[in-house]
Amino acid sequence: MSDEIYSLRMRSSAGGEHLSGAERLVDRSQLEMVSLELLRRGLVHSRGQAEELRLAVDLIPADSLCEVTLPELSTWLVPDVATGRQAAVEVLVAAGVDRYASQQAIESLAAGASPSGSSMRGAMLINARTGQRLESDPFRGVRVSRMDLADDQRTPLQEQLVPLGLDNSHVQEALVLAAKVIAAPGIVAELCWSDDPDYTAGYVAAPALGYIRFPLLKNAGDTRGGRAFFVDLDKVELSELITYLEQTPVLATRLGLCNPPRLWSERA
Ligand code: AMP
Repeated sequence: MSDEIYSLRMRSSAGGEHLSGAERLVDRSQLEMVSLELLRRGLVHSRGQAEELRLAVDLIPADSLCEVTLPELSTWLVPDVATGRQAAVEVLVAAGVDRYASQQAIESLAAGASPSGSSMRGAMLINARTGQRLESDPFRGVRVSRMDLADDQRTPLQEQLVPLGLDNSHVQEALVLAAKVIAAPGIVAELCWSDDPDYTAGYVAAPALGYIRFPLLKNAGDTRGGRAFFVDLDKVELSELITYLEQTPVLATRLGLCNPPRLWSERA
C-alpha cells in the first residue's frame, strides 16, 4: 500500500433500522472506485432499499497500519441450533472463557443483547472470568473499525473458500474482523452470529484456536444476532482495547488455512 491510505466506512438504514455496513482500507488510486462499490452495496440490500446512507472517508497515516494474519478456518457441522450453541460454549471454554460467562453471552445474543431486546450495532465486551458486561453503552456496544484484507490476498482467499461453498461476503468480512479482534491485547475469544434473518451460521474465534464456524447458531428468520468479545482484564486496560478496536488500522496481509467441515458428533 502507498503512503496515503484512506479508511472508508459505509452504513445504510431505512426507517431508522440498520440495513448494511462495510469497511475498507484503500489507496488514493482506489478511493473513487471503492466508494462507488460501497454506495451501490449500501443502497440496495436483501432487507430493503436504503433511505439513509453515510460514507465516511478518513485519511490515515500509513505508518499506523498493523498487519495481521487471517485465522485458520474450521467448520463443525451440528444437527440443530441447540447443539450448535452447546458446541460454541465448549469451544469458548477451550479458549479460556469461563463456562458461565459463555452461557450468559449466548443467552444475551439469543434474547437480543441490547436492553431494548433487539440486536446491538456493535459488540458486547464481556469479562472472560466473571461474565460481567463492560461496554459503556449497552445499546450500541463497541464497533470494530478500520480493517480490510490486502488486495493481493482476495483471489487466493476466494480460491480456498470456493471449494468449501464459503465464498461469500459474510465469511470474508467476518474473517477479517475476527483477525483484528483476536490480535487485540487481552482478547480471549469472540462469539458471533449474524442478525441477517437468512444467515444462520456463526463462529467462535480465539488466538490459539482460529476461526471455528458452526452452520447453525440460530434459526432462519430470526433477526437477533450480535457479537461478544471476551476480555482478560489482567492483560489490558479497557480504554486501550477500545481504542485499538475502533481506531487502529489493521490489514490482513496473510491467509490462514481453510479446512473442510467435520461432524461435531465425531470430534476426538
Ligand atoms: P453481521 O455479521 O454483520 O450480521 O453482524 C452481526 C452482529 O455483529 C451485528 O448485529 C452487530 O451486533 C455486530 N457487529 C456487526 N459489525 C460489527 C463491528 N464492525 N464491530 C462490532 N460488532 C459488529
